[in-house]
Order: sequence, then structure tokens, then C-alpha cells
Amino acid sequence: MADEYNDDRRGGYDDRRRTAPAGGMDSGEGNGPQVGGRRRYTPRRKVCMFCTDKVHTPDYKDLKRLQRHISDRGKILPRRRTGTCARHQRGVATAVKRARHMALLPFVAAPGRG
Ligand SMILES: [Zn+2]
Repeated sequence: MADEYNDDRRGGYDDRRRTAPAGGMDSGEGNGPQVGGRRRYTPRRKVCMFCTDKVHTPDYKDLKRLQRHISDRGKILPRRRTGTCARHQRGVATAVKRARHMALLPFVAAPGRG
């Protein structure tokens, strides 16, 4: 399970209208009808870049591609971030580990050496 990380259930709207204060000013600007168009969530279609480029197996020497699959701390990004398909994600993990062994990629990047 947990194939699709569905984060669609973030907290509901907290958009309850404030009741007008007890002042008697009636200068327009009442609570008009709710105008929508605010929440336009377009789910970006992510596709596996290895599938689109017809790369059979991710290459550990292909740093340009691998670097898009590691975070800035050198960690392998989950495929829900990158959109890589399951097969290629497995290959990415192997390729990144090989590249680390060849010192092409960092095991851990410590910017600032915190
Ligand atoms: Zn793929």
C-alpha cells in the first residue's frame, strides 16, 4: 500500500465569515456572495523522466540526471517528489549508491557544516 501519497485532506477551510460589528455603518461593502476562484489546485502531472527519455536503467555516471533525484543534503528523494516510477526509482537508488561509492555524489552534504 501507500503507493499514492494522497495529501488531499489538509485542513478544511477556516473561512467562517466574521459577523459584522455592531456599528451601524451601511456604506456598501457588505458580505456579498462568496466568490470562488481562490482554490484552484492543479495536480501537476508528474511523469517518470527515465520513462520519457527511454532510459532503461539509470546510470550511475549520469550525474546530471541523478542530481535531480537527490536532495541538497545528498539524500535520495522519494518518488512522490520526483514522480519516478517504481521500477526506475529502484534503479535510481542503486545508481545513486554506486555513484556515492565512486565519490561522484556525496553520502552526506553538509552545507555550512552545521
Ligand atoms: Zn520510469
